[in-house]
Amino acid sequence: MSAAANSNPWWQACLDLLFPPLCLGCGTCLGSSRPPLFCPGCQEKIIPLAPPFCTCCGRPLPAAAGQGHICGRCLTKPPAFTMARALVLYDGPIAEAIHRFKYQGETAGLATFAHLNTMAAPAVLSAPDLILPVPLHPKRLRQRGFNQAQRLAAAFFPNGRERLRSELLLRTRPTAPQTGMSGGERRRNLRRAFALSRPGLVRNRRILLVDDVYTTGSTVNECAKVLRRAGATAVEVLTLARVRE
Ligand SMILES: [Zn+2]
Ligand SMILES: [Zn+2]
Repeated sequence: MSAAANSNPWWQACLDLLFPPLCLGCGTCLGSSRPPLFCPGCQEKIIPLAPPFCTCCGRPLPAAAGQGHICGRCLTKPPAFTMARALVLYDGPIAEAIHRFKYQGETAGLATFAHLNTMAAPAVLSAPDLILPVPLHPKRLRQRGFNQAQRLAAAFFPNGRERLRSELLLRTRPTAPQTGMSGGERRRNLRRAFALSRPGLVRNRRILLVDDVYTTGSTVNECAKVLRRAGATAVEVLTLARVRE
């Protein structure tokens, strides 16, 4: 969107009339391009991540009463990250919107994802010194043309340009796509896949890792291990969405 379109509501209304924005979930025409770009039906199906959830990994714990619970998985094997939070459940319209963004390069959803960030819960995350998107391997980056985590981090933190350091955390080994893999397979797949270009820069720093979807947490956990080894004091994780389990 151009700067003129941003600043002039009349011009924006004309553009919306000429090029009606589409619902990111179902493709229905919408009356306005003001985020969130979801029709009322899709909007209803978007479920914000709210307590009760595991205070460590953010896993929904529907049966738990009150707050302050840690899930069995985090108790038996505490992750390397300090805490992970997601904005919404990975389901229905949001899964469709992420798929279009990630695999079809439709960036129209970014303003909507940023809007979700202003509405949802990550206020519990502390102010980070550095914001690091989960990196793609250079080969994958060339294929896709952009890193979805980097775009999300920039959209979530429009005033965080100086803290957003995409060049620090690197994916040094290409990894197989993880869809359908178990937690153990994912961990093996990701072993020694990440490294820091300048480890000294994360020492004694609070880090926020940003990614699109939290599935088993293996990816962000592997990144967090690298960061903790280099002396980061805390590693928190923010993802746009999280699978239910
Ligand atoms: Zn819709
Ligand atoms: Zn947990």
